[in-house]
Amino acid sequence: MSASPSHPVVIVGAGPGGLCAALALARVHVPVAVLERAPQPVAAGAGVLLQSNAMRVLAALGLEEPLRAVGATMEHGLVADWRGRPLQGLALDRLDPGGPAPLGLHRADLARVLTAALPCDTVRFGAAVREVQPDPADPGVSLEDGQRLTARAVVGADGIHSTVRASLLGPRMVRYAGYTCWRGVALGVPGLEPGHMIEHWGPGQRFGALPIGAGRAYWFATANAPAGGEDGADPLAALQGRFAGWASPVSALLAATPAGAVLRNDIHDLAPLGRWSSGAATLLGDAAHAMTPNLGQGACQAIEDAVALGWVLGSAPGDLPAALERYERIRRSRTRRFVSRSRRFGQVAQWRGATARSLRDALVAATPDAFAANSAASMLALPPLLVRGLRMLGGEGSS
Ligand SMILES: Cc1cc2nc3c(=O)[nH]c(=O)nc-3n(C[C@H](O)[C@H](O)[C@H](O)COP(=O)(O)OP(=O)(O)OC[C@H]3O[C@@H](n4cnc5c(N)ncnc54)[C@H](O)[C@@H]3O)c2cc1C
Repeated sequence: MSASPSHPVVIVGAGPGGLCAALALARVHVPVAVLERAPQPVAAGAGVLLQSNAMRVLAALGLEEPLRAVGATMEHGLVADWRGRPLQGLALDRLDPGGPAPLGLHRADLARVLTAALPCDTVRFGAAVREVQPDPADPGVSLEDGQRLTARAVVGADGIHSTVRASLLGPRMVRYAGYTCWRGVALGVPGLEPGHMIEHWGPGQRFGALPIGAGRAYWFATANAPAGGEDGADPLAALQGRFAGWASPVSALLAATPAGAVLRNDIHDLAPLGRWSSGAATLLGDAAHAMTPNLGQGACQAIEDAVALGWVLGSAPGDLPAALERYERIRRSRTRRFVSRSRRFGQVAQWRGATARSLRDALVAATPDAFAANSAASMLALPPLLVRGLRMLGGEGSS
């Protein structure tokens, strides 16, 4: 059977990118189905920071209010050294004047709000995609259980180790960044002021935290290490040892974290791809441009992708490959800049040597807050084409 406009756009993956793409397409009345390999919505996980660029999109989709109800609005960010000496402060809620303030929230809450905003049964859980057929004459996906679904188009939003990307473009190696990351959710916010996030830099290690609503805080810790390392029987105790002597609130947050609830991931990104699309299929989010988490922009950029996709598919229903090429053109150079900027930022922030660190810290401390704020604001500003896309999706957040 060949595809017709009545077939849904099939999105592979119900992460923030896939769910927001589904919401954007539903907004422009494009039928959509999301296939997620997990058997049910994921309740675990850690937190995420959604910055003003992503919050503008979510506001345009009518979701700012329900998201703020489950998260914590961010007002201030502080970078300090491991002893607690302040290096730089940023008024996070003033980086996008007139725009929404950033929000910290639990990933499970984000997924719940996004899924609830979609028409019932849009997301099919327990549906693992094995392969994609991108031929515009008959696009579709094959599932691990042997089923085949015909699609109008296929969008791979299946994360950094994307099956869709491998199926379309062949295998790609992800790049190890040289450090590993632990994440957890503290049941309490000891030592954190409301609306404040912190990040402490020490020798080859960092620790950061922010409130995420419901009296909880999300924290992350990084350390230079070979890839593939493992913790012993008690990862929390090992982390407490590794960060012993660091300034408040590091030890208090670790102490408020349930044992057994610490996640560990080696940090990887993806070298820029020459193209994202083939025929009637394309990539979105981490599948297309996975970046290190240093700028807190991976999910935000996936959410921006969703606007561009909704816009091109909603406004050019005819020539699909041309529409997907347009989507790529809108998104490729911006996401590429985030990948390289984030990678470089992480390399410097993970410096271990005392001399290099003291020079770096002195430079950061000497940078006027206004200069740092301008640089962050220009990074967060949505490009004019995306603002037009947001208007088409009908958002107040597009002003
Ligand atoms: C330590 C850390 C901290 C981070 N902090 C932030 C932050 O504060 N702010 C921010 O913006 N970003 C942050 N990020 C980045 C962010 O997590 C990712 O960029 C974001 O989750 C990407 O969203 P996605 O929807 O593209 O992919 P994912 O979130 O990876 O979702 C992919 C989905 O596809 C599903 N899937 C995979 N394969 C298949 C298949 N074959 N068939 C069907 N389904 C499949 C998966 O189960 C998953 O649900 C962080 C990342 C890390 C590692």
